[in-house]
Amino acid sequence: MLDQQNFSKKLIKWFQVERAHLPVPGRGDSNPYAIWVAEVMLQQTQVTTVWPYYKNWMRDYPTISHLADVEQDQILKSWEGLGYYSRARNLHRGAKYVVDEFRGVLPTRVNELLKVPGIGPYTSAAIASLAFGEAVPLIDGNVLRVFARLTRLKSNITLSKTRSDISLELTRLIPVKHPGAFNQGLMDLGRAVCTPHNPDCANCPIDQTCAARQAGDMEAYPVKPQRRPIPHYHIVVGLIRRDQKLLIQRRPENGLLGGLWEFPGGKIEKGERGEAALLREIKEETGLEVDLGEEIGTIQHAYTHFKITLTAWFCDWVSGEALSFASTENRWVFMDELKDYAFPKANKKILDILTK
Ligand code: SF4
Repeated sequence: MLDQQNFSKKLIKWFQVERAHLPVPGRGDSNPYAIWVAEVMLQQTQVTTVWPYYKNWMRDYPTISHLADVEQDQILKSWEGLGYYSRARNLHRGAKYVVDEFRGVLPTRVNELLKVPGIGPYTSAAIASLAFGEAVPLIDGNVLRVFARLTRLKSNITLSKTRSDISLELTRLIPVKHPGAFNQGLMDLGRAVCTPHNPDCANCPIDQTCAARQAGDMEAYPVKPQRRPIPHYHIVVGLIRRDQKLLIQRRPENGLLGGLWEFPGGKIEKGERGEAALLREIKEETGLEVDLGEEIGTIQHAYTHFKITLTAWFCDWVSGEALSFASTENRWVFMDELKDYAFPKANKKILDILTK
């Protein structure tokens, strides 16, 4: 069993020395809004990717009231390229709620923070411990990995029972005087030292208490179920021209890439040719008759749970008015207006081909 003397104190001491070399958005900040924004951006996303988005966000929306005041389209445009767009919509919804219910000031305790839409157990613990010193543990992928190695944990860390056991143990270990340093130290240790491959045990402040280090089987932990192979889809999209404008459609709010704009198209079915699939998809999604134009190009893109090969063509409108069967809105826009709309990365790659 880990004890505070050999574990928590060494971890905090290490963090206090190393924190300057481990810059992470929102860390070391006592502004709860900055911590909220940073922690939401950092979910499933690398620190280096987050930095420019975080800086621009805090410049454009420096307070909760600023964020609550803008339209969702502007928020999605600011988030464009960062992925998991429900995070942006939830931040925006949460900001409006904080303005309406808490006069624009975030509450200080976990149980109150959990009332804010979009703030879940992780983000509430981050804000409460880092900004307000509440002694609650923070558990992300880095913390799970460190903990699993320290204790040679045999349980599957993707199970909620395992996570709640770890949470209980960390609640016992977290020092009431320095909960923020403890939480940040554990996360930063996982990110910088106890990495998924080749952990730097020689420079780890808690190697003396690490069971996996002593057994020499660090990379056997954490235990996870085997991953299924990632599916790969072939997609076609059409940039439909009419009177020098192009048709774009807005995706439904709920679901993957919700609220973003895109060009109509979809998956190529088994045994189908790309061109035929495109005409079928355009008919199904917009009701339009179009002629196939020239091919623009093909790009590859990887989402978290699947990969795509996407080919785009120009198409020319023939007849019909654009309907919204799978989208929430249609717009015909000039080419130079496309930059004002937030698109998924794969569509952006097609636009990059066009502007080259
Ligand atoms: S000793 Fe190695 S495996 Fe153990 S916590 Fe430190 S870096 Fe991770």
